[in-house]
Amino acid sequence: MKQIAIDGPAGAGKSTIAKAVSKELQFVYIDTGAMYRAIGLYVLRNNVSKDDEENVVKLAKSCDVTISYENGEQVVSLNGENVNGFIRTPEVGEYASAISVFKEVREKLVYLQQELAKTTNVVMDGRDIGSKVLPDATLKVYLDADVNVRAKRRYDELTLKGEKVDLKELTEEMKARDYRDMHRDNSPLVRVPDAKYVDSSYMTPEEVKDRIIELYREADK
Ligand code: C5P
Repeated sequence: MKQIAIDGPAGAGKSTIAKAVSKELQFVYIDTGAMYRAIGLYVLRNNVSKDDEENVVKLAKSCDVTISYENGEQVVSLNGENVNGFIRTPEVGEYASAISVFKEVREKLVYLQQELAKTTNVVMDGRDIGSKVLPDATLKVYLDADVNVRAKRRYDELTLKGEKVDLKELTEEMKARDYRDMHRDNSPLVRVPDAKYVDSSYMTPEEVKDRIIELYREADK
């Protein structure tokens, strides 16, 4: 099976690019962040503190997170409910980042992700794809961008959806989330030596997609 692993900080454009690349290559796109978000949502809905490891792990182990596809779109289900419409808020992002530090939460999702990649060609994005989930991926990319550019992108995305957000606050939240993702003990976000570095700050999504397809063709020779 062919595998493209895309890791990087929040707002670097991973999901937009991974979707476009998977469409062009006819691979299946797997958004692993959405899986952490689904568990984050479950913890939030159950009024459990995101730092309460024991109860978070209990909830994570007891819930059913599945990925399916409807009209080419990834659908994340939590105990059978399509939760796509609930997992994109900054609050759920915070919960996802906080609960993703726990080893047993990660073990459950890494296993699911590896199983998904066994039967089909995939483009998978996240924080630990090249380092942990798909260590033998055909191509590994570390997709980065300046934090101010990333915050502005997220700001535009949320504003477009009608959400009221403050750019300065969003930038600070993003920095805090990056710090936590890069400094946690379990599978932190790292730039593995065999990953190709792409800085998307001043590139259009189309340019980034083309660059990654080009890198893939070289890697798959
Ligand atoms: O990519 P996204 O912002 O949707 O991810 C939400 C959070 O889930 C991240 O901040 C990160 O803490 C966590 N995550 C992770 N490993 C992944 C994907 C996401 O720890 N493979």
